[in-house]
Amino acid sequence: MPEIKSYWQNYINGAWVDGGAGRLAVDDPATGVALAEQALADQGDVNRAVEAARACHHSRALTAMRPVSRGRMVRAMGDYLLANIERIAYVLCRESGKPLWEARLEVEGAARYFEYYGNQAETIEGRSIPLGERYYDFTTYEPYGVSAHVIPWNYPLEMTARSLSAALTAGNACVVKTPELDPLTTAFIAEAAEHAGLPKGAVNVICGLGHDAGAALVAHSDVNQIVFTGSVPTGVSIACAAAKNVVPCVLELGGKSAAIAWPDADLDGLVSSVRWGIFFNAGQVCSAMSRLIVHEDIHDEVVERVADMARSISTGPGEERTDFGANMGAMISERQRDRAEAMCREAERQGARAVTGGRKLNRAGYFLEPTVFDRLTPDMSIAREEVFGPVLSILKFRTEQDALSIANGTDYGLVAGIFTRDIDRAMKAAARLRAGQIFVNEWYAGGVETPFGGYGKSGYGREKGREALWNYLQTKNIAIALNS
Ligand code: NAD
Repeated sequence: MPEIKSYWQNYINGAWVDGGAGRLAVDDPATGVALAEQALADQGDVNRAVEAARACHHSRALTAMRPVSRGRMVRAMGDYLLANIERIAYVLCRESGKPLWEARLEVEGAARYFEYYGNQAETIEGRSIPLGERYYDFTTYEPYGVSAHVIPWNYPLEMTARSLSAALTAGNACVVKTPELDPLTTAFIAEAAEHAGLPKGAVNVICGLGHDAGAALVAHSDVNQIVFTGSVPTGVSIACAAAKNVVPCVLELGGKSAAIAWPDADLDGLVSSVRWGIFFNAGQVCSAMSRLIVHEDIHDEVVERVADMARSISTGPGEERTDFGANMGAMISERQRDRAEAMCREAERQGARAVTGGRKLNRAGYFLEPTVFDRLTPDMSIAREEVFGPVLSILKFRTEQDALSIANGTDYGLVAGIFTRDIDRAMKAAARLRAGQIFVNEWYAGGVETPFGGYGKSGYGREKGREALWNYLQTKNIAIALNS
């Protein structure tokens, strides 16, 4: 396996630099042992990164070029990631705890964003508006200028790629604040920008603590647009900071997403969707299938089949899990794992039954067993609050109305799923579910091309798809009075 270098720097204005706040130890979640050190940015570094992005924007280096050239550079960033996939996936696996095969999928997913949005650069077109023969009027779309990206730890590379690729395609200069738990891999995105020939200051990557460098970045008066992915409380404080500077922000927050399974569902397909839906990335996915609402006629059979599937998943170090299969890695940190385990204990105290799992593994590293709960009522905390771990809550329903009101009964609304062979029933439920994306008969159907984002406390604005480009563009209208 490749060596992981012992110290990783930040990337500001085209140069690799130390951090004003010193260094941060990054742990291997599979062992709990320190893996490497990361330069830690302070407010001075944030100021320099924002200044570099602002200077890049004012130089018009990104905006003056023909969009096809900008699009090619964005695509080249993805090509660079793919060309280095093994090296990148290994670091990602070690710092995040995910299996090596999942880390490879994340690198491919990140590259796909650069491909998709790079290809869109030439599609950002204005229009002319007829005002009679005395005027000529047209509308164009311009980048905001400096775009700030605050990234969570669950998909550090892919979440960065998701917003950065669209922001750059639209012509913004960007500052990325990496997550402090697994900040290393994002350095490869800076390398990719350098390799692709992006101008100095177009991509700046800094790691800093959320309440320090993160807060300084989102409050900076020269930041013109913010995109945040993470928890609800942080989202609220970032929205407040954006409001103070009157700049737009996109919030991608948490979820407690539900799948509804009717008796006519294909149960093999359902169990496969549950495997991906709640055990992929050890359940640390904002759009995880954390609730499964099952019709009473198939409830017992589904509980048994899902529990068997969960028991078949081997949990251990990601480095040893090189190939796709029934396996799962560590959670990101001791704190996250212990929080999830405490939620399982509380669920049992409230009367839920752990059909399988619910305990941490008795070994080094931050592992939690794949867990399935049943005998739940919708008011229990495990059925309402986000665990952000490999914990599925199975609830029972009798009528369609019950199923929909359980599914819609949390503060969140990120995604939802429907499993049935009856397309009329599926369409009716899709219209009534309060969520930004609905999966029918396959959890995570869709892709980079399909818009994604929340209803309710899951956030606002959309990532992915054509919709996301509009996060990074502002409208300018030019009205010309012609001399008669
Ligand atoms: P978090 O909110 O603690 O941190 C996310 C990022 O925000 C980190 O980079 C952190 O340093 C930074 N941050 C923290 N406080 C800040 C502040 N005051 N100002 C500016 N930045 C600050 O979230 P987390 O624990 O890293 O991630 C888990 C949460 O994120 C879960 O709730 C999950 O559902 C959500 N999430 C959502 C999506 C999505 O696309 N909707 C994706 C991934 C994670």
